Amino acid sequence: MTKQFFDYAFFKGKIVPIEQANVPIMTNALQYGTGFFGGIRTYYNADDKAAYIFRLKDHCARFVNSAKLLEVSLPYSAEELFDIIKNLAEKNNPNTDAYLRPFAYVGNTALGPNLVNTTMDFALYMIPLKNYIPVHKGLSVCISKWQRIPKEAIPVRAKASGIYINSALARKEASDGGFDEAILLGAKGNVSEGSAENIFIVKDNVLITPSLSEDILEGITRRTIMELAKEMDIALQEKPISREELFNADEVFMTGTGCQVAWVKSIDKHMIANGKIGPITRKLQQKYFNIVRGIDKDHISWRTKLIID
Ligand code: PMP
Repeated sequence: MTKQFFDYAFFKGKIVPIEQANVPIMTNALQYGTGFFGGIRTYYNADDKAAYIFRLKDHCARFVNSAKLLEVSLPYSAEELFDIIKNLAEKNNPNTDAYLRPFAYVGNTALGPNLVNTTMDFALYMIPLKNYIPVHKGLSVCISKWQRIPKEAIPVRAKASGIYINSALARKEASDGGFDEAILLGAKGNVSEGSAENIFIVKDNVLITPSLSEDILEGITRRTIMELAKEMDIALQEKPISREELFNADEVFMTGTGCQVAWVKSIDKHMIANGKIGPITRKLQQKYFNIVRGIDKDHISWRTKLIID
């Protein structure tokens, strides 16, 4: 059986065996979701026996920015986080694709949701992870009855733990209805994002993705796809997308660190175009998978090579 976790975690300022990284049940973040997190992938290239962390610097920058948005402090700078994450990944010596989960949380046991005068505790663990959701089969997704939390309620660009009850509800709805994933609409009825993915559509050879004003998390995979599209001379627009435009699209796909680049075959059982993966999605997906694994040598600065056995 593949193991569920790698052996080591980073907890209370040092690398420890994962069994020692535990918090009391009274922990504030556990009760109230007073925390935020990141999600980072390492890819293993079996041919080169090399492992790479993808866009680590950008993930560290977003993590530090989450603290700023929530007006709390972190015990580490972005540069220190970079080293902590790289060191833990190397200590775990992965020979498979994996996922790193850094998180910052209110670790005290005070009663009441509380971000006042708080320096967050920090922890990091790592799990083996192949595909989070299928990337090649063509996803069957639903539009959720739950509305994406607006930035007027919680700063949505911070990956705040408490927000994810919104995602969990949408995922439950998808799963109960036999769908692979759910798409959430925003307050104005426009497409916002998936439970943990950004959305792209293609219409008349133009790649379109909801703008930041649509209460989305600014995904690092989203940014990657936009940068690759520009280099590949694919026309690109950031703008609000209505439910109608989504149904009428020539191609639809989802992006995220977990999901990577996964194409969508149907939405609420309505087939997208001819129900096959579209040419632009295919091109971007191939480029993405080759880059993250270092098969394609472009964008070397996006890959942090790990020193492993
Ligand atoms: N939206 C949400 C709500 C997410 O949780 C994620 C996953 N982090 C994404 C989008 C995609 O972001 P990224 O590409 O940075 O993983």
